[in-house]
Amino acid sequence: MSIRTPPTLEELARNVLLRNETLAISALEDLPMMLFPALFKEAFSGRHTKIVKAMVAAWPFPCLPLGTLMNNTFNLEVFQAVLDGLDVLLIQQVCSKRGKLQVLDFRQVHHEFWSIQAGTRDGDCSAETVSEKQVVQVLPRDELRGKLKVVADLYFRFQLDEEEMYLLHWAQQRKDFLQLCCVNMKIVLLSLDNVRMVLTVFEPEHMEVLELTVDWNWCTLARFSPCLTQMRNLHTLSLVWIHKNGFGVVYIPGLEKFIQKFIAQFSRLGSLQHLYLNGFCFLSDHMKLLLRNLKTTLETFSVTHSHFLQSHLHHFSQCQQLHQLKHLDMSGVPMSHLFMMPLRVLLENVSDTLETLELQGCEIKDSQLNVLLPALSQCSQLTKVNFYTNDFSMNVLSDLLLHTANLSKMTMEQYPAPLECYDDLGYVSIERFVQLCLLLMDTLRAIRQPKMISFATDVCSRCFKRCVYDQEIRLCPCLQ
Ligand SMILES: [Zn+2]
Repeated sequence: MSIRTPPTLEELARNVLLRNETLAISALEDLPMMLFPALFKEAFSGRHTKIVKAMVAAWPFPCLPLGTLMNNTFNLEVFQAVLDGLDVLLIQQVCSKRGKLQVLDFRQVHHEFWSIQAGTRDGDCSAETVSEKQVVQVLPRDELRGKLKVVADLYFRFQLDEEEMYLLHWAQQRKDFLQLCCVNMKIVLLSLDNVRMVLTVFEPEHMEVLELTVDWNWCTLARFSPCLTQMRNLHTLSLVWIHKNGFGVVYIPGLEKFIQKFIAQFSRLGSLQHLYLNGFCFLSDHMKLLLRNLKTTLETFSVTHSHFLQSHLHHFSQCQQLHQLKHLDMSGVPMSHLFMMPLRVLLENVSDTLETLELQGCEIKDSQLNVLLPALSQCSQLTKVNFYTNDFSMNVLSDLLLHTANLSKMTMEQYPAPLECYDDLGYVSIERFVQLCLLLMDTLRAIRQPKMISFATDVCSRCFKRCVYDQEIRLCPCLQ
């Protein structure tokens, strides 16, 4: 039989306050700071909306990190109570005795705030992220003074839902009194009008990460592109293009003008470090122009599920802004028809910096891999490679592994099953697959101890899974 620990005085006081809203609200003016975080947490999770509203208005710390609380227990009524509390603060800002709130943070950060005795250190908001500090730095001083800041990471999907519409509507009405900053924004398949509406509320200049998935045509992309020019602090841009009418460029009147307008905006992204383009098929001249418009040295260059011409690889190898890459991803770009020397030059250029290389599903052949091997063996900083779904024979795959002798930082390696595993009809022989993988592992272990390594067959045409050999064999569901 367990003995129940008696509640502390603080817990008893909290319970009394939560049971009597009027008493709680009137007690806030004199409530010790150290009691605020725990009382707020319970009022928030218990949906005591009146107490929540009053506590936001009387919050004695500069920052209220709400994101983690909302993640656990999101409720529209409590959310509205928080915003109502901000309204009280906006009205009372000049004469409030207690309220010190400057930043309401909806992001999933500040985890420590709620677990430490925040009251022991006045205004402890030390968990503030680098991102937020950067946002504060970019705001003019006089703009910061006197304005409450609301910081959020936002993820909009398909349609704006009720909560999102409420927040946007609320924020839009208070634009002149609040600073509304969104640091990370993810937008999936919204209409251009909705995207523009979001960007008029959350000013683009505070944005650091934008992930945009669209099914627009070039005309709509061109109309969106001026929004990019205002994102002067954007360091990560991920554009995913889902093609409604199949893969490739659909010709519409004015196409060239639209593409050029879109590409021209890249010259305004003065903080860009990570660029992801998925499903974008640029003609050679357009890619050349895009690369020429890059104003910063990139850490990440990811051009996936696209089509390259020979000249694309040439432009990559010549582009100075790609010479310090840490991450290169060209997955899903068929390359079997390409001469690989320019890619080898690119790998030589980045051999001192490259940490991850993804060439999954590129249909690279033996003779092409042979061209790349001397450059690959020089990339001494590599920690991760992925060569799944390429056409390598046993001999060339062994050679590839032998060329990794000096890549001592490697932590994750993914290689395709050798061609010899497949019969004439393309079916995999499991016995042969295991046998050859064991041989390849022996080859590698003779020169280096791998950490995580796997060999995988092509994706099964029935279940879309692979058979994978790592420490053991894992078959796709149809072969089990
Ligand atoms: Zn299968």
